[in-house]
Amino acid sequence: MALSTTAVCPCGSGETYGECCAPLHQGVAAETVVSLMRSRYSAFVLRLEGYLRKSWHPDTCPAEMGLSGATHWKRLEVLEHDQQDGEQEQRGWVHFRATFQEHGRWQQLEEASRFIRLDGRWVYVDGDARVTALKPGRNDPCPCDSGRKLKKCCAV
Ligand SMILES: [Zn+2]
Ligand SMILES: [Zn+2]
Repeated sequence: MALSTTAVCPCGSGETYGECCAPLHQGVAAETVVSLMRSRYSAFVLRLEGYLRKSWHPDTCPAEMGLSGATHWKRLEVLEHDQQDGEQEQRGWVHFRATFQEHGRWQQLEEASRFIRLDGRWVYVDGDARVTALKPGRNDPCPCDSGRKLKKCCAV
């Protein structure tokens, strides 16, 4: 899926795609684990399988990515992050929450992801994830964080 560089970036940074995740998707190395993580979230939204593979540790990258299009990513919140730029080894982690809709059901993935810098590029290794179901009412604020009621926003 291609996105205009003037569109709002899917990672929710508030910047345009061209000023946020697009350069990374085009091959620029991420400077921080957070920007890599955000670009991977955007890549899930845009179903950029090649980018997801490139930014995934070869030992843990799954053979089947499962980007069926059934999962609609709605919101990303980065809760905490840290990185260590040691001389021998560079590691980082990001704790985030991602809200998505699948077959009309709302769910939230909360994950502490581990990253490592491999040949100068950050890659995703693995994470401790937990998925919980959300049950927003039609008059509740939309879980996508638009500020509108669900029935006027992402209701299906
Ligand atoms: Zn972005
Ligand atoms: Zn919404």
